[in-house]
Amino acid sequence: MKRKPPAGSAIAARVSALEERVTRLEARRPPPGDGRTTHEARAGRDGARCAGCGLPLRRRRGRCAECGRPLDADAG
Ligand SMILES: [Zn+2]
Repeated sequence: MKRKPPAGSAIAARVSALEERVTRLEARRPPPGDGRTTHEARAGRDGARCAGCGLPLRRRRGRCAECGRPLDADAG
């Protein structure tokens, strides 16, 4: 393996490119706290997700149809 010394100019160029990109991205977005920026992941439309496989819950005979995890583990 050959080791190259870190090229400072290349890194600086990269950082400046990233800064441009971030500036552009920020310009397209409303400021934080505006209320429009939040894209919170919602747990499916019906809300329920299997704790075992994390997929939207499809019940089958009291179990998850995907992974077979019992839904009422405490009841039995
Ligand atoms: Zn599951």
